[in-house]
Amino acid sequence: MSDCIFCRIVDGQIPAKKVFEDEDIIAFNDINPARPVHVLVIPKKHITSLATVTPEDAPILGKVLLKANEIATAQGSPDGFRVIINTGRVGQQEVQHLHAHIVGGPDPVGPMLKRI
Ligand code: 5GP
Ligand code: ZN
Repeated sequence: MSDCIFCRIVDGQIPAKKVFEDEDIIAFNDINPARPVHVLVIPKKHITSLATVTPEDAPILGKVLLKANEIATAQGSPDGFRVIINTGRVGQQEVQHLHAHIVGGPDPVGPMLKRI
């Protein structure tokens, strides 16, 4: 989708600091990090949100979660992290391309209001 900012990152039309990539997903640093480690993991395929997924998306959703620990550890959050997937209007999802926020760092992640 050419009007989707994260599809444009997938296509290389918008620069991002990629920290992981394979054939199905990419992970890159959030442009406005809320914590020392703040990575977004997204499917390369355009999926709007958890509100629109179908059973055929199960493998890719699994992959996003399966890679989270490896990405967090490599980025400096080896002792745990949070995964947040804001969804839809009530979830205050701002970018309409499904993404998992991985947030962490050297210290425990405290309570967070909407900021990520
Ligand atoms: P949401 O509120 O949709 O869950 O989060 C969207 C996230 O995408 C925000 O944390 C925001 O900082 C991040 N973001 C928005 N535009 C860009 C961009 O162009 N590049 C990167 N790396 N992150 C972005
Ligand atoms: Zn997209």
